[in-house]
Amino acid sequence: MYDFAYHKPSSVADAVKILSADPEARPISGGQTLLPALKHRLNKPSAIVDLSGIAELKGIKRDGDKIVIGALTKHIEVANSPEVKAAIPALAQMASTIGDTQVRNCGTIGGSVSNNDPAADYPAAVLGLGATVVTDKRRIAADDFFQGMFTTALEPGELLVAIEFPIPEKAGYAKMRNPASRYVMAGAFVAKTKSGLRVAINGAGPCVFRQPAMEQALSSNWSADAVGGIKQDADGLNGDIHGSAEYRAHLVTVMAKRAVASAG
Ligand SMILES: Cc1cc2nc3c(=O)[nH]c(=O)nc-3n(C[C@H](O)[C@H](O)[C@H](O)COP(=O)(O)OP(=O)(O)OC[C@H]3O[C@@H](n4cnc5c(N)ncnc54)[C@H](O)[C@@H]3O)c2cc1C
Repeated sequence: MYDFAYHKPSSVADAVKILSADPEARPISGGQTLLPALKHRLNKPSAIVDLSGIAELKGIKRDGDKIVIGALTKHIEVANSPEVKAAIPALAQMASTIGDTQVRNCGTIGGSVSNNDPAADYPAAVLGLGATVVTDKRRIAADDFFQGMFTTALEPGELLVAIEFPIPEKAGYAKMRNPASRYVMAGAFVAKTKSGLRVAINGAGPCVFRQPAMEQALSSNWSADAVGGIKQDADGLNGDIHGSAEYRAHLVTVMAKRAVASAG
C-alpha cells in the first residue's frame, strides 16, 4: 500500500469539498473493492475520503411509487429491509446473494454501482428497473449511467448519493455464479414497469446492457417461454478461463427464462 492522507467528513458537502480540491483523492465506502486495489498497489490515491460517517448517505425509505436507497446502505440492509422486500422482492433477494457474509456486511450499493464491475449484481437491478442515480450534482437515468467496463457517467469528484428505484408490477432476477469468486458469470434482471418491459443482462458482457429482443417478446407474452427461443449473440461478450463468450450467450437465455419464472 502507498501512503495517503485520510479524511473522514461528516457531510456530503464536506466530502465533495475535499474531493474537488484534490483530483487524486478517492472516496471509500465499504472498501470491498478499493482496499484490495490499494493493498495490491493497483491504485495510488493522494487521499482517501471515508464516507462512513455521513448519516445523510444512509438508509432506505419508500417515497410514493419508488424506493430510495442511500449510497452507503450495505447489501445486508437491502436484503433485510421490510420496505424493499414488500415493494421489490427481487432486489432484496439479489442483495442477499451478493458475495459472502463479510462482503454483504461491508459492501454498499453506492460503491458497487459507482464501481460498475461487469460481474456485479446491482447494475442489473438499476438498469432493469430503470432507476435514477442521484449524485451531489444531478440526477442520471440508468440508461445513461453505465458507460462501459468499470466506467460510469460519474465525473471525477462526483459522489453517488442515492438510487431511486421505481416500484415495478413484477420483477425477477437470476444469475449463474462463478463457483470460486461468487461473482456473476451471466445474469438477467427482468421487470414489468409502468413505462414498459425491461431486461438487463449483467456478467456476460463488458458492461451491463439491455436485451431489446427479449423486451419485445415479453411485452406481448409475459412468460418464460417467450424469451426461451431468443438467442443472445456471442459477439462482444466476455470470454475467459471461466467460460467462453458462447457459453455466456447461452446462459443469458437460460437466466432470462429463470428470471421471468421467478417474477411470476
Ligand atoms: C470476495 C468478494 C466477493 C464479491 N462478490 C460480489 C458479488 O457476487 N456480486 C457483487 O455485485 N459484488 C461482489 N463483490 C463486490 C462488493 O459487492 C462491493 O460491495 C463492491 O465492489 C464495492 O462496494 P464498496 O462499498 O465496498 O465500495 P468501495 O470498495 O469502497 O469503492 C469502490 C469504488 O467506488 C468508489 N465509490 C465508493 N462509494 C462511492 C460513492 N458514494 N460515490 C462515488 N464513488 C464511490 C470508490 O472510490 C471506488 O473506486 C465482492 C467483493 C469481494 C471482496
